[in-house]
Amino acid sequence: MTTQDVMVEDVYARPSARFAGDGGLEVRASAATGCRRGLWYAATGHRVTDPPTPAALTVLEAGNALEPVVLRAMERAGWRITPAERLMPVAVTVRFGDALAVSGHVDAVGVMPVFGGETVVEVKTRNPEAFRRWQTLGAERSHPGAVAQAAVYTAGRYGETRDAVIAAMDTGSRAWDFEVIPSGRVAQALAGVEEWLAPLTAHHAANGRDPEALPERDFRAGSWQCAACPYVTACRRDAGETAPEDAADDAAPVTEAEALAAVAAYAEAHEALKAPEGAKREALDTLQAWMAQQGSGKEALGGRTVSLVRSRRYTVDYRRLNAALPPEVRAGIVTEQESRYVRVT
Ligand code: SF4
Repeated sequence: MTTQDVMVEDVYARPSARFAGDGGLEVRASAATGCRRGLWYAATGHRVTDPPTPAALTVLEAGNALEPVVLRAMERAGWRITPAERLMPVAVTVRFGDALAVSGHVDAVGVMPVFGGETVVEVKTRNPEAFRRWQTLGAERSHPGAVAQAAVYTAGRYGETRDAVIAAMDTGSRAWDFEVIPSGRVAQALAGVEEWLAPLTAHHAANGRDPEALPERDFRAGSWQCAACPYVTACRRDAGETAPEDAADDAAPVTEAEALAAVAAYAEAHEALKAPEGAKREALDTLQAWMAQQGSGKEALGGRTVSLVRSRRYTVDYRRLNAALPPEVRAGIVTEQESRYVRVT
């Protein structure tokens, strides 16, 4: 693995993969853990069949616009930050042998308050749910692509692996947080990039630049990766698929008329419950004050028992937990379950 720094123009408008002047494959760091078939589509110049929607572009641009805000918040918290020059950022490239290079542009470098050397700072913005997931599970489990990206930037910038920092902002509350990825795990992430892309390099060696020689699909129809893929129509058409694989359901189909009736019934029930719920809350507030006055935990009143229930909450400092434990150990401690429910607003 070797590294090099070069100055480039128009750095943000480039495909996720392309064939470099030396004939090798060049992959964008932010796409280095992405679908290898998708990378091949990009490198061989396939037509984009599913460009980002205007809404997706707005989300992307809003995220980009917030990056300097996150960096300034870090400076106010005592970090010494050197942001990238937006108009002409320095490109970093990490080479894995002669046939593969992974390149990108570092968001910023920074020095943590009190102690620590300079590290790459990779900035992300996330919606409230994704932000909480990142804090709870740690970056390697929730955003492995971001860790891989930071690892490439670190190796490209310093010619070695060292600690890296992922900073993220919650786009709902504008809260921000950071996670330090220790150097050993940065090295693992870099090795993971090489391992992930090795079959693509081998595919290139075996097939040249043949656009029709497509690698296997890395993700299932219906996955978020495929949903966001700019080649999903072409890819799924090639597979003869029109519906997500996990959409199969034995339940009888619900007609649109039934769904509309259900929304109306829900809205009516919701309205009917509003007044009693408000009265209940007001009565409970009064009783809580009364119980406090009595200095009592349980009282018989009007033929009923009124109890003052106390509960405790315990919080975990996920930042410290994530820094202290490698992701495979955390996976045995902080587990994740997915549940589904319907919300009508
Ligand atoms: S649709 Fe899915 S499997 Fe096909 S190229 Fe895109 S990400 Fe890969």
